[in-house]
Amino acid sequence: MHAMVYHGPGRRSWEQVPDPEVQRATDAIVRVDAVTICGTDLHILKGDVPEVQPGRILGHEAVGTVIEIGSAVEKLAVGDRVLVSCISACGSCRYCRDGQYGQCLGGGGWILGHLIDGTQAEYVRVPFADNSTHKVPAGVSDEQMVMLADILPTSYEVGVLSAAVRPGDTVAIVGAGPIGLAAVLTAKLFSPSHIVVIDIAESRLEAAKNMGADVVVNSTSQDARSVLDELTDGLGADVAMEAVGVPETFEQAVRLVRAGGHVANIGVHGKPATLHLEDIWIKNLTITTGLVDTHSTPSLISLVANHQIDTAAMITHHFGMDEFDLAYDVFSRAGETGALKVLLTRTAHSG
Ligand SMILES: [Zn+2]
Ligand SMILES: [Zn+2]
Repeated sequence: MHAMVYHGPGRRSWEQVPDPEVQRATDAIVRVDAVTICGTDLHILKGDVPEVQPGRILGHEAVGTVIEIGSAVEKLAVGDRVLVSCISACGSCRYCRDGQYGQCLGGGGWILGHLIDGTQAEYVRVPFADNSTHKVPAGVSDEQMVMLADILPTSYEVGVLSAAVRPGDTVAIVGAGPIGLAAVLTAKLFSPSHIVVIDIAESRLEAAKNMGADVVVNSTSQDARSVLDELTDGLGADVAMEAVGVPETFEQAVRLVRAGGHVANIGVHGKPATLHLEDIWIKNLTITTGLVDTHSTPSLISLVANHQIDTAAMITHHFGMDEFDLAYDVFSRAGETGALKVLLTRTAHSG
């Protein structure tokens, strides 16, 4: 088969590799029908995630068809259409028993495209297949579903649910990339009074408006705190979410929130950020961080199946899998190409 293989910082190639095989009785082999690229894959390619070894197949999001199951797989059958979650779950360790699958101690967690071969391939081996996949309901497209592998549950759990967004809240979201936009989509489920999205790229702010942001702020020309002050009688946001992953935007999120408010960090950070305790110790803030657990995926699937959220709107570019190199190029130059999420689908001559 063909797969996108990491060859060390800055180097990747779509190349011929052996097909995956069932290694443990709880594995399934899934034919990948639709797959996407995550900002985290770009972090890996920059060398920010040194646990990823050269030779590793990238990718942790996919929708596909089960083609083989191990002898201990009970809930899946050959031919099932499934979502392959970015988080695998052994199902029985202390964290899995608590629904915190991202912290799995039994060999799961974020392993696909990280510690084991991932989904940017024609076929993928999915460990703990019963607990690490979700069946795709009839009527839900691959496009809709693949967004639920990572970004939707990440923004929903680590952003919206951690921050406990409530009806009437003023919610500030720093960063209008795919994670920030997924935060807009899922924050709206709680009827906040205002969603204010802050970014430096006009194309992304436009996308945020289309996703349902009430106010957008280009922080190169406008002061986000003043905009929030106007909306909240000088109090600040009830909730601020950081959806970029650089020190400046985390520090900005802390400045935007009111006393008693909540800062939810969603971004993946590679450098230390400053926490100004000398200013905020007195403000009763709650600051949360996290890796997604994907405990919300069944709820999100039901929201999509019932047309309460439209995730396909996040996909800006479509490619065949044989155009994987081009797709990476377009996705990594998002500033110029306007790419949010790119979707790659199986092509006629994939094999
Ligand atoms: Zn990801
Ligand atoms: Zn576990």
